[in-house]
Amino acid sequence: MLEVSNLGVRYGRHVALEGISTQISKGEICVILGANGAGKSSLLGAIAGLVGKESGSRVVMNGKDVSGLEAHLIVEEGIALVPEGRGIFGDFTVAENLRIGAHASRAKANAAKTLAFVYDLFPRLAEREEQLAQTMSGGEQQMVAIGRALMSKPDILMLDEPSLGLSPLLSKNLFKSLATIAAEGIGILLVEQNARLSLKTADRGYLIETGRIVGEGAAAELLHDPTVERAYLGGA
Ligand code: ATP
Repeated sequence: MLEVSNLGVRYGRHVALEGISTQISKGEICVILGANGAGKSSLLGAIAGLVGKESGSRVVMNGKDVSGLEAHLIVEEGIALVPEGRGIFGDFTVAENLRIGAHASRAKANAAKTLAFVYDLFPRLAEREEQLAQTMSGGEQQMVAIGRALMSKPDILMLDEPSLGLSPLLSKNLFKSLATIAAEGIGILLVEQNARLSLKTADRGYLIETGRIVGEGAAAELLHDPTVERAYLGGA
């Protein structure tokens, strides 16, 4: 469904990403692991059209080359990003934030059905529809951010550090929700610090070091790979 090939990002003279290739299928969960500054956020931003790509980078979505499209047109092609820090509108209510997500033309016709799915996934959002987003707890704000992205009816949902700042229990619940979303056929590409939890949920993983993919494999195998254990899982 999503195919990325030879993707590169450069900030001035600094090469942040080089020669990145990956693909995500329908309903698949794929996690990208890497140290701070490895280029994980740049990768999601580049796919979403928010960060400029080097010429020769290709992003193909459902068979269409979307490499040169602006961010809002990439959303129309079915790619949604939940950015690090969530990026929700604090002064707007939960319901308003969700409505903003349904702005894409691909989403409008089915907005009521999608909203029912979001409320089913996160009942707390239905209970707090009229509450200002900024007064929600961290975990609830993450639900708003994911709900808003889902309202655009994506085929691919990308999440940048979704468990950041959440308690272990909330993180676990969050990953359960991601599995439910994937079961709907949505492909998930996520960047995570919590390597253990994300590899337990994901189907596949990629390891990024200084802008390059240095390893990839089935999540279950990565979870037991000694190099991964040392670098990302805190020891043997
Ligand atoms: P973290 O987990 O710390 O957020 P990351 O893996 O997501 O890291 P990126 O944020 O993608 O890494 O950054 C990759 C590299 O590019 C870093 O060295 C960073 O300093 C640099 N970088 C990112 N954004 C810019 C920018 N706008 N201008 C210049 N350099 C940047």
